Amino acid sequence: MEPLSDRIALVTGASRGIGRACAEALALAGCDLVIHCHQRLDLANEALQAVQASGRRGLVVQADLAIESEVGRMVEQAEEALGPIDILVNNAGVAHPTPIESITPEVFDRELATNLRSAFLATQAVLPSMRARQWGRLVFVSSVAAQVGGVVGPHYAASKAGLHGLAHAYASQLAREGITANVVAPALIETDMVRSNPKATPALIPVGRFGTVEETADVVVMLARNGYVTGQTVNVNGGWYFS
Ligand code: NAD
Repeated sequence: MEPLSDRIALVTGASRGIGRACAEALALAGCDLVIHCHQRLDLANEALQAVQASGRRGLVVQADLAIESEVGRMVEQAEEALGPIDILVNNAGVAHPTPIESITPEVFDRELATNLRSAFLATQAVLPSMRARQWGRLVFVSSVAAQVGGVVGPHYAASKAGLHGLAHAYASQLAREGITANVVAPALIETDMVRSNPKATPALIPVGRFGTVEETADVVVMLARNGYVTGQTVNVNGGWYFS
């Protein structure tokens, strides 16, 4: 396992939920943190305080990642303030539960722009400096929905399945350059996203309870430390799906 001291990590959607736990866990592991948030600057500033309390540098950057120019600006601002990104956790996402008959092309495009296109754009933006330095960690936060369909809808499942394709292609093409790319596929982790979906119940989970954000962040930190695991999907799903 490689030490993470002084590595710079960017976690998208880090004001709350899984992203916040990843940011705090990476700071405890020794990273400086770029805390991206969409709207909740108040919560992002709380996350910043937690990072600083771990003795690490931190920065909050606000951006709507469904908008292409905002993704580029987020990475530029982050690199200007803290330096080149070593670890990118593509965590930000939306889940709009929608009946099949109501999934219009607009609904589909919006889910893909936020969940998939944003991860592609952020990855492309950090890769030049990772490749120049021959070190990088890309983590894509997908979902059990990519594997079994899930409780949101085909638009969400498709957006998450696309992340596996990104991870596989980046992993295979960058393996010789010190850059790994992996997927973390959670279900059902107790966050605002799960609490707001009535179909998400612990009865779906073989272990009989929701997972915690800390259990998910543990895996993300492991993937950031490990230079030999690449192109893999690590499931954090209480046994819902085995791979
Ligand atoms: P959450 O709703 O608490 O967090 C989602 C984050 O994404 C928030 O910080 C939000 O601000 C950000 N976001 C949403 N739209 C955005 C936009 N347009 N631009 C920038 N940021 C935006 O939920 P969570 O459970 O912590 O979700 C984190 C990730 O985990 C998501 O990608 C989600 O799909 C995935 N996931 C969660 C579960 C679960 O059980 N909680 C299961 C599978 C996958």
